[in-house]
Amino acid sequence: MPPFEKILLKNMETPGYTGSLADYERGGGYQALRKVLGKIPPAEITETVKKSGLRGRGGAGFPTGVKWGFLPKDYQGPKYLCCNADESEPGTFKDRQLIERDPHQMIEGMLLACYAIGVETAYIYIRGEFVLGAQILERALAEARMAGYVGQNILGARTSINIWVHRGAGAYICGEETALLESLEGKRGLPRVKPPFPATHGLYNKPTVVNNVETLANLPHIINRGAEWFAAIGSPPKSSGTRIFCVSGHVKRPGNFEVPMGTTLRELIFEHAGGMRSDKPLKAIIPGGASAPFFTPEHLGVKLDFESVAQAGSMLGSGGVTVMEEGTNMVWAALRLMEFFYHESCGKCTPCREGSSWLVQTMRRIVDGRGRNSDLETLVELCQNIAGRTVCAFGDAEVAPIMSTLKYWRHEYEELIQQAAMSAPAELMMPVMGKH
Ligand code: SF4
Repeated sequence: MPPFEKILLKNMETPGYTGSLADYERGGGYQALRKVLGKIPPAEITETVKKSGLRGRGGAGFPTGVKWGFLPKDYQGPKYLCCNADESEPGTFKDRQLIERDPHQMIEGMLLACYAIGVETAYIYIRGEFVLGAQILERALAEARMAGYVGQNILGARTSINIWVHRGAGAYICGEETALLESLEGKRGLPRVKPPFPATHGLYNKPTVVNNVETLANLPHIINRGAEWFAAIGSPPKSSGTRIFCVSGHVKRPGNFEVPMGTTLRELIFEHAGGMRSDKPLKAIIPGGASAPFFTPEHLGVKLDFESVAQAGSMLGSGGVTVMEEGTNMVWAALRLMEFFYHESCGKCTPCREGSSWLVQTMRRIVDGRGRNSDLETLVELCQNIAGRTVCAFGDAEVAPIMSTLKYWRHEYEELIQQAAMSAPAELMMPVMGKH
């Protein structure tokens, strides 16, 4: 692939860069804020972001400028911006790096977003386990306040923006934007039924925008270098810019890699991540975090952009790419993911709460060598009764590992069940209705 310029990881990959305010400013930090504050009308910033084609990097990929545009016009009361730093998707660890290694990049992005949408109070909702990240953010915000970037009348302008860090308590579902808002309000983090959407009824029932860390970190660069520059990177028009992919699993060099959207899975895994860790060939890939359906080696040519991954039957999601080598038991892999989802189901709606329990019980039975002939049918039926029938997208996410492993590696399920049949008395293999 031709050489490309990193945008988000560039600072932190510079030798000696500490992420301090002084380092960030030396590299041009806070120039975007200085450029717009009191000089460019907020609506123009929103237009620039729309033109850039920036889409949310948290999972759903919604166009950022369009999302901002949903806030009610001429609304006089308080509005809020929430930075979603509750990165919890298994296999995803990019936001953590952005927070810990270059916190001012994200803070400047938040300030620009606040200015564009007329927000004076913003929150960073950070995953509870990210203790170091929360400390680094508090330190960075203290520096920014001292320097006049955050607080009352920032940089002497009429604009006042305060940013506060709020630590979550470790629930995966609080990465879902409405559960995040509930948690931020001090309640149990349960997703809300939508509509109404946060744009009109968000934090404290006020208009609210929730944006992901990586999304916000792109903003200073878009303002500094222009919408056209950003829109030309990657796979325009619908997947512009770069993306940080978190590669984990059976590769030689796991880690975060920033590449233009549209880079193929093959290049990401075999060039950037160094290829397979041993002489065992590639068997399976999760392309976008645990909620994304599995891919096989046949998908190595798929471009990592929103459309291409969706067309190939999965999703770009959070950017967590997990690689598995030949020899990995795919039924076991799906069970491990399912156990995570079962543990993290918030329990608000029945299909997810009960269905996840039944899925785990059925999967465990198969993996433990006690599978029944009827189990595959039961799994499919359960998945069909969960997907699309839940309060939030978690329902679709939790069935993805099972449905996609059944699609590509059904024979592994069947082999486990056949082995069970050979070692169990015949009466135990009869389907038992209603019991899982
Ligand atoms: Fe909670 Fe699951 Fe329902 Fe989402 S789908 S609201 S996580 S029970």
